[in-house]
Amino acid sequence: MLFDVLPRLLAPGKGPRGRLGGMGSHDPAGEPAEQVASVVDEVEEAAGEMDRARRALAGATRVAVLTGAGISTDSGIPDFRGPEGVWTRNPAAERTSTLAVYLEDPEVRRQAWQNRLASPAWDATPNAGHRALVALERQGRLLALITQNIDELHQLAGSDRSLVIELHGTMRRVVCWRCGAEGPMGPTLERVRAGDPDPACLRCGGILKSATISFGQALDPATVSRAEEAALGCDVFLAVGSSLSVYPAAGLVPLAKEGGAGLVIVNGEPTPYDDIADAVVRVPISAALPGLLAAR
Ligand code: ZN
Repeated sequence: MLFDVLPRLLAPGKGPRGRLGGMGSHDPAGEPAEQVASVVDEVEEAAGEMDRARRALAGATRVAVLTGAGISTDSGIPDFRGPEGVWTRNPAAERTSTLAVYLEDPEVRRQAWQNRLASPAWDATPNAGHRALVALERQGRLLALITQNIDELHQLAGSDRSLVIELHGTMRRVVCWRCGAEGPMGPTLERVRAGDPDPACLRCGGILKSATISFGQALDPATVSRAEEAALGCDVFLAVGSSLSVYPAAGLVPLAKEGGAGLVIVNGEPTPYDDIADAVVRVPISAALPGLLAAR
């Protein structure tokens, strides 16, 4: 039976959908043939969604992209909020990312600096998903690349810095909480490595923190405005690897729809906006994006 359906799996979008469906079996305890039919159904549906997404994107000339943690997991950076996330497994880790606690408690800052030192992001390199977005930019079709990520893998992949809108800041820079001095993270991490558990600002002695948005910290209004403008001005909004459950990212989707844009979602898990999307792709991101964003 599988051999009968394989050719159709390899030729997505051909033939009527659901021919093998309607057997009434999504029951995992069903007969083997019914289980195969159920899997085939799912694969066919996935192929159909890929086709719809490809069509929606092929006609777009001003694509606003939003990326979340999902695009970086294939580069070895864990999703803090996902099922295997650091915060999910160890809620105490979230304390080091809460602004008020960080500013008050030197012990929390010492832990935070150790966490920064040990971050898998320092060794991470961009993956095919990041590179596909660079390709989209080179086709002249990328309006903005909005990201919830702080790893700068888009910039490392070659995305134009002026097009990247970092909603949650960047872990690759450090900022003084007192005088506002800002600089690259490297030299401060060197001080930690050399034995300073909680390095202070060299200019004023104030508390240093990565230039990321912590819990309890206000977002940068100018950054949010830029993201909103992009959402309103795009012809397709492409959300990649984001649960679309955290503001302001979550609010960009309705804005894009309001502006008349198409909506394509590429994410491993369901999002609150799947119902209003033109296509919802569940194929792993680094595998899906190159095909979705190939030159027209
Ligand atoms: Zn300072």
